[in-house]
Amino acid sequence: MRKYYTEQTMESIARRVLDAYDERLYRGQPRAIPIEDLIERHGLTLEFQYLRKNGRILGKTVFDTGLEAVYDMELGEYTLFPVKAGTILIDASLCEEETSTGRLRFTEAHELSHWILHKGLYTGTGESAALQPAVRETSMEIQANMLGSALLMPMPMVKRCFYQMRSGRDNQAIVQAMSEVFQVSRQAMRIRLTNHHLL
Ligand SMILES: [Zn+2]
Repeated sequence: MRKYYTEQTMESIARRVLDAYDERLYRGQPRAIPIEDLIERHGLTLEFQYLRKNGRILGKTVFDTGLEAVYDMELGEYTLFPVKAGTILIDASLCEEETSTGRLRFTEAHELSHWILHKGLYTGTGESAALQPAVRETSMEIQANMLGSALLMPMPMVKRCFYQMRSGRDNQAIVQAMSEVFQVSRQAMRIRLTNHHLL
């Protein structure tokens, strides 16, 4: 059975996940969500490797212990890397520049979301979240993006931050300021605010 999740369902999943981590977080002061701590709290391991020569795959969640192809920069070739079930592989290129912090954090949240939402669908199939038939992948990617956004930018925090900061700022400035508070990209913040009719 394919499962569909609405935006509201994602919001409540995010609230449950954040409450389980720290009850004061979800309704607390706006801040950057400690996404790497959340990942560890789920018993997952973060591993940084070059996943592709060209950096086209930013992250991958491993549901079954096995081998994953990673790119060895020094050798200039792909090698097989042993990974355990419950590993989140992140492309090492995301750690190279300060400017990609938002992309790094979003990729981490997206991959954690795959683990939360799709673990049962993949475990035992030998497939990872990055390699799926197109149709199924599309809805799953959308779901992982929706939950990823809800985890990094919980709505009560976003609203509180918006009303605290909007005075004297135009749309561009509020997006900039809030993306710094939550440590997400400006694009991710703009989408979040637009979807909730704040911009
Ligand atoms: Zn994905």
